[in-house]
Amino acid sequence: KKILLTGGTGFIGRGLVKELLARGDEVVVLSRDADRAQRALPGTRAVQWDPDHAGSWLDEIDGTDALIHLAGEPIAKRWNDAARRDIIRSRVETTRLLGEAIGKAKKKPSSFVCASAIGYYGAQPPEKQLDEKAPAGEGFLADVVVRWEEAAQLVGQQQGVRSVQLRIGIVVGEGGGALEKMITPFRLFAGGPIGDGRQMISWIHLDDVVGLTLLAMENETVSGPFNVVAPNPVNGEDLAKAIGQVLGRPSWLRVPEAVVRLGLGDAAEIITTGQHVIPRRAHELDYKFQYTDIVTALESTLR
Ligand code: NDP
Repeated sequence: KKILLTGGTGFIGRGLVKELLARGDEVVVLSRDADRAQRALPGTRAVQWDPDHAGSWLDEIDGTDALIHLAGEPIAKRWNDAARRDIIRSRVETTRLLGEAIGKAKKKPSSFVCASAIGYYGAQPPEKQLDEKAPAGEGFLADVVVRWEEAAQLVGQQQGVRSVQLRIGIVVGEGGGALEKMITPFRLFAGGPIGDGRQMISWIHLDDVVGLTLLAMENETVSGPFNVVAPNPVNGEDLAKAIGQVLGRPSWLRVPEAVVRLGLGDAAEIITTGQHVIPRRAHELDYKFQYTDIVTALESTLR
């Protein structure tokens, strides 16, 4: 199969590319720096794209079996006006542009799988369990995700392709993600509950992000929003204990929000507030999670 990805050089993209290559798929990666991408991802074919403009890269869409869109400006920074603009444009406009590209293809991909995020649900009390039918929440991230998913669904409707929006949780895995950035205080012996400790962190191991993305790509009954979270979310206090346990560090000191903000900027809210997300669709599809326990998941990456 020929699979085309944007964001293939990123934290999630690298994990997905590795698995696709292992299966023997032909992998094409659209990158803003094709030379760097080619060096980083041997075995793929990197193609230069300009995420703001149509170009010869459009031709690559023709004959692709699946299109996976993971590209997006990182959110771990101060959200000044310019940053907010970049965060939105790099997701919403690229989604629209990829839709145009699909429209021009003689042979269209059978699926368009677009990243999204559990930020869709906004900050929610721990007792409120959220499946794919729960309404959108409030705040900047929720607004971004709503616009991003609308753009992705429009691609599906206008181009007649199956469109899936992966509502990805807090990813646990080697080489990136929000969790890696909050580990620093623990390494410095000062880790502990973050926020009030009651907020639910809906985490997922990178291997299961990859597994569920492949499922979304291949299972023709999957379309629309798809929660990509593990079945056992943890609250802030238990997450701190688990990190402390795996690193062999005490976890009784409270981590001030200011420290979390050092690593995550305004995106600290994804850790200091939270939401209790349920992988309803994944369960219906009988997906077997590789990681259901936070300690085992953390051990696989932190040790
Ligand atoms: P990364 O930041 O690691 O990678 C994203 C990729 O997007 C980069 O490798 C880069 O590719 C491309 N990119 C970066 N900025 C821009 C830009 N301004 N315009 C176009 N392309 C850009 O992200 P992740 O792998 O962590 O996440 C992938 C997607 O999943 C993102 O959209 C993210 O919002 C979403 N997500 C991630 C979660 C997580 O915990 N990691 C949780 C929920 C959602 P190149 O330089 O090759 O062009």
